[in-house]
Amino acid sequence: MAADPKKKYGKKRCKYCEMKVDYIGYKDLDLIKYSLSERYKIMPRRLTGTCKKHQDMVQKAIKRARQVALIPYVVDRHRVVENPFDVIKPLKG
Ligand SMILES: [Zn+2]
Repeated sequence: MAADPKKKYGKKRCKYCEMKVDYIGYKDLDLIKYSLSERYKIMPRRLTGTCKKHQDMVQKAIKRARQVALIPYVVDRHRVVENPFDVIKPLKG
């Protein structure tokens, strides 16, 4: 493995474990946003380093948050979407 794509993302550590998070609910958008890409997609564990326990939790939370429209399902960059949610804004480049 000459070109290891993992290196780009630095050391793998679970943010949630570091923050000693026991539970991630769909309203915990401050926590969820660490696992969302700028397009509101769920970041895979291999990129974020989130442990399995917390990844499962955050995936459920994100799906739930989508159902209740706290976060959008898909963001098309060519479409202007009103962002109902200020917390996630800093993720936008
Ligand atoms: Zn963890």
